[in-house]
Amino acid sequence: MTPAVALRPNLRLTELGIERRCGRCRQFWPADQEFFSLKKPGQLHSWCRACFAEYAIERRARNRTGKAAGLHVGLTRA
Ligand SMILES: [Zn+2]
Repeated sequence: MTPAVALRPNLRLTELGIERRCGRCRQFWPADQEFFSLKKPGQLHSWCRACFAEYAIERRARNRTGKAAGLHVGLTRA
């Protein structure tokens, strides 16, 4: 087993490659586009995809009482 080498505080090198720490869940994930979306070309976002998905759901739930709720009235069936 190769010990993890610290590159930068939010990056680490494992035997599987470079991992990046998500700024939200504080977990290390492989530093590629499968786990992190791109902020801009060549730069990964500081949050993992799972956190973004979670955040979107939370934000949607929080906005349910707001004006966004009106947009879905015609789409829901009883
Ligand atoms: Zn995360």
